[in-house]
Amino acid sequence: MYFIANWKMFGKLSTLISLNKVIKFLKNFKKSNITKIIYCPPSTLIRPMSKMIINSKIQVGAQNCHESPTYGASTGSINPEMLKNVGAKYVILGHSENRGSGETDKLINAKIKSATKSGLKVIFCIGETLSQKRKKITKKILSKQIALGLKKVKKRKNIVIAYEPVWSIGTGVIPKLDELFGTINFIKKKVRNIKVLYGGSVNPKNINELKLIKNIDGFLIGGASQDPKKFIDIIKKTYN
Ligand code: PEP
Repeated sequence: MYFIANWKMFGKLSTLISLNKVIKFLKNFKKSNITKIIYCPPSTLIRPMSKMIINSKIQVGAQNCHESPTYGASTGSINPEMLKNVGAKYVILGHSENRGSGETDKLINAKIKSATKSGLKVIFCIGETLSQKRKKITKKILSKQIALGLKKVKKRKNIVIAYEPVWSIGTGVIPKLDELFGTINFIKKKVRNIKVLYGGSVNPKNINELKLIKNIDGFLIGGASQDPKKFIDIIKKTYN
C-alpha cells in the first residue's frame, strides 16, 4: 500500500520536526515491508527533508515539475533533474489544482515523459469535476486524461495513478464505496499492471470505510497529511 503525503503549500523548516513522529512510528511498524510512504513537501523543503529521512522508510517527492530536461529561461520553474539533485524520487503530476490553473493534458504528458526519462517516479493524478460527474461523463473524462497523459509513455512501471475526483479534494466528501470500486476497476482495465491510488479528503475517520475497497493500492492524502498524528492514524487503521 502507498501512503503519499501531499503537503501542498504548507510548511517551513521548523515544520519538519513533525516528521520525527512518523519516522519513529515506522521504526516499529510491522507492515513496513509492504508499505510505501512518500512525502511530497513544497520544493523549499525537499532537500532538508531528504536529509532527515535517510535510514527511514520514507521517500521524498515533489509536487510538480517543468517539462524541460535542460536549464532554460523559465522563471520560477524547476526541472526533473534539479528535483532529483536535491533528493526527490517521485513527482506528482496532473494534480487538479494545477490542471485548474491551466495545465493541459498535453503539457502533463510532456512532464511525465521528461520526469520518467530522468528517473523520477510519477504520481499521475486524474479525476472528474462535479459538473462532469453530474453529466455522467466520468469514464469519458478519465479515459481522455489517461490516453493523452500517457501518450507514448514507455516506462509505465515507474508510474502510479492517483484517482482524485476534483469534487472530493478538500471538501470532506468521498465517493460512494461501490462507485469508487467501479472507477478504480475501470482505470485498472484501461491501464494494465498499474497501481491505482485514491485521493480526496482521506482522513482518520473515513479510512475505515475506504480500506474496505479491495482494489485500491493506497492513498494520496492532502490536508490530513500535514498532521503527523492523523497521517499515522490513517496508516494504522488501513491495516487494522
Ligand atoms: C490532494 O491535494 O491531493 C488531496 C487529496 O487533498 P485532500 O486530502 O486535502 O482532499
